[in-house]
Parts: sequence; structure tokens; C-alpha cells
Amino acid sequence: MNSNHKSVDCDYIVIGGGIVGGCISYYLSRQNKEVICIDSGEFSGSYSNAGSIHVQLQSRNFRLNPHLIDNLLENLPFYKEAVSAWNRLSLMLNVDFDLRVNGGLMVADNEEQLKFLYKKCHEEKAAGLDVEIIESNKIKKVYPFLSDKVVGGEFCAHEGKLNPLVANKSLQEISLRSGVKIMKCETVNHIELKNNEYYIKTNLREYYCEKVIIAAGSGTGKLAECLNFNIPTVAEPLHMNVTEKVKMFIPILIQHAERSITLKQISSGNIIIGGGWPARIDERTNKIQIKRESLFGNLRTAVDLVPSIGKLKLLRTWGGINPITDGNSVLGNIKGYENVFFAIPGDAGYTLGPLCAEVIIDLINSKKNEFYSSKFSPERFLKNHKKMILEN
Ligand SMILES: Cc1cc2nc3c(=O)[nH]c(=O)nc-3n(C[C@H](O)[C@H](O)[C@H](O)COP(=O)(O)OP(=O)(O)OC[C@H]3O[C@@H](n4cnc5c(N)ncnc54)[C@H](O)[C@@H]3O)c2cc1C
Repeated sequence: MNSNHKSVDCDYIVIGGGIVGGCISYYLSRQNKEVICIDSGEFSGSYSNAGSIHVQLQSRNFRLNPHLIDNLLENLPFYKEAVSAWNRLSLMLNVDFDLRVNGGLMVADNEEQLKFLYKKCHEEKAAGLDVEIIESNKIKKVYPFLSDKVVGGEFCAHEGKLNPLVANKSLQEISLRSGVKIMKCETVNHIELKNNEYYIKTNLREYYCEKVIIAAGSGTGKLAECLNFNIPTVAEPLHMNVTEKVKMFIPILIQHAERSITLKQISSGNIIIGGGWPARIDERTNKIQIKRESLFGNLRTAVDLVPSIGKLKLLRTWGGINPITDGNSVLGNIKGYENVFFAIPGDAGYTLGPLCAEVIIDLINSKKNEFYSSKFSPERFLKNHKKMILEN
């Protein structure tokens, strides 16, 4: 390590303290590595997300991104393993963050949608998922809270939910105890390779380190530019809602075969309603604003599927940023910068967070990870990659 400069030196710098950067920092510290995690936010990472554990393909991708479906189908084993990675994290932290893998149901309210679910179920079964169709004669008996309009659904046993607020908070607290230095409200503006070390400049100070992990979500593209590399990251503003607490009556994650919706009830009794409804970023303040039409559209869809939600008070609606690339995770390094690792999760990125971190740790340690595929490599952006279309 260079000793002639007045700056902070360490082995590893992780840029971004969301679920991906947070897990990477923690896992490195467990291997007795010296780690600094830098995040521009006060509370790092988008734990404003819904906490749904997604495994089956989300219907919005069939509608918006039919050109990516083959790719997403190939990734299903990665999503299935991601649930196991959450279980491993929960055991390591020894904290109950309300991780419940009770399954998820994607419902249909007409025969055409049910036909679509049959086809999807067939393909997902072939890809190794534990999925089945529940038909109309059974569905209301098993899930009496569903609307009479529902004519069937695809049940995926691997899906579930967790409380992201508790998960991210406990991950940070335990990481600090494990020796990770967490720098909040600090933004990395520049990365450069200087004499076999990485020089990192933030708005507050300078660092030198041996290895850099860029897990900055939608901020990754800008940082990649410092290395003359193009990773097209987009910040997709989305909104979520939470109702008042009621006695537990929705034990599983609910989605729809055609419409954008996720809803689930967490242990406290609150119902979280989301599913990818667009918000907007105010150009002047850079703050997220909720779109009236999204708010009403999202709630109307929820009440349509689970009518008793219509009687509940809405407690809060809030927005967050979903980092988007091409739907696939971006994991690994690029030629010429072997000690810089990019770590952006693919679609439903919170689900993938701990597994993406495990893969990065194995790549750093030059260890084979059976769930890593070369199609996750950032080098794909050197070629013509398929773009992801977003809801507007
Ligand atoms: C409303 C909403 C609901 C969602 N619901 C779900 C869900 O139910 N299930 C699911 O699987 N996924 C969900 N997602 C997606 C999921 O939240 C994200 O994919 C995931 O959190 C991304 O994690 P990350 O660690 O890669 O990035 P982030 O959580 O975005 O963290 C990146 C961090 O990097 C920091 N950063 C960026 N640039 C810099 C810089 N230059 N210097 C320093 N720090 C920097 C940022 O401050 C940020 O804290 C949802 C997203 C939203 C917005």
C-alpha cells in the first residue's frame, strides 16, 4: 500500500450500501478483510422497497419485455437459489426480519389469463420451479379473501416476503460490529487506477484501496464512466402503499396475470401494496413524487382482487428508486480493471441481493460459484445488448 499520500487506505472499498453492497461488505468482513462501505444516502439503499420475494416470472415482463422472456426463464434457478441465500443471511445475522416463504399466487380473472398462466406454469416447471395451477373450484376454498372474479391462479412455493426495513437495519448494525466502516452521506465522484491501486475521490475525502466493488444501483453507470465503460443504468421511480394493521388474513404474496400488483400482509398486520406503479422524480428538487393516477390505479387493482382491503385506512404512500439495466444481474469485472467488481442485481433486485453478494465474494476469491453465468458479465455491454422497456 502506498504510504506517501494523506488519505484513507484500506483493502476493499464498497460503493453503495444497499442490500447488495451491504451484504458484500458484511461477507468480506466475515473473512477478516478491511472494508469501507461508502454511501451517498443517510440511510443507505432502497429499503423503501416492498419486501416481496419473487421467483416466478412477473407478468409485467411478458407485457413490456417479451424480447427478454427467454433470458429471464433461464435465470429462474438463480431466483430459486436467491431464497436460500436469504435463509443463509438470516441464520448468519440471527435476526428475525419476518422472512416467510409461504408461497406466492399469481391470479387470473378470465379464461385467457388462466391459459397464459398454464403455459407459464408449464415452462417454469420445466425450469425446475415448484409451481402448480389452482383452478376456480379450489381457489376460493383455499384463499377465501380473494374476489369472486378470480378464476384461478399459479402458485409458486418458493415465494414469500420479508421486512426490508428490519433486514437492512440489522445488516448495518451487525456489519459495524463485524468491523465494516460505513461512511454515510458521502458521494464517490471519481475512480482511477494509479500505480496498481485504486484512487477514489468523494465529496469529503480521498481513498486508496486494492479492490473496489461498485454496488451503487442506478448510480453505477456514472461511476463506470470513470473507467471509460458504459453500463446503461436507469433510475426507475416506483411507489408503494401500506394500510392500517388488521388481523392476519393474507398468508401469501399475491400478484396478477396481467395487471401490475403485488400485495402481502406482514406479521405486524399491515398490508403492503405495490407492484411497479410509476412515480416521478421532480427535476427541481430531485425528490420522488407520487402520481395520482398510479396511486388510484394501484389501490383499485388491490381492492379488485381482495375486496376487504377497500374497508381499510391507507396509512402511507411512498416512492423509491428501482435500478434497471437490461433485466439481468451485472456481476463481475471488465478487462483492464481486474480489481473492480460491478454488482447490480437483475429484475426484482431485493430478492437477488444476498445471492449477488455471495457470487461477488466468490469472484473476488477466484472461487467457482455454480450459480454464476458468464451472461452476468458487464462485458456484455460492449456488444449489442437487449434493452428493458419500463412502464410509464
Ligand atoms: C418501490 C419499490 C418496491 C420494490 N419492491 C421490491 C420487492 O418487493 N422485491 C424485490 O425483489 N425488489 C423490489 N424492488 C427492487 C429493489 O428494491 C432493488 O432492486 C434493490 O433494492 C437494489 O439494491 P441495490 O443494493 O443494488 O441498490 P440500492 O438499494 O439502490 O443501493 C445503491 C446505493 O448506492 C448509493 N450510491 C449511488 N451512487 C453512489 C455514489 N456515487 N457514491 C456513493 N453512493 C452511491 C445510493 O445512495 C444507494 O444507497 C423495489 C423497488 C422499489 C423502488
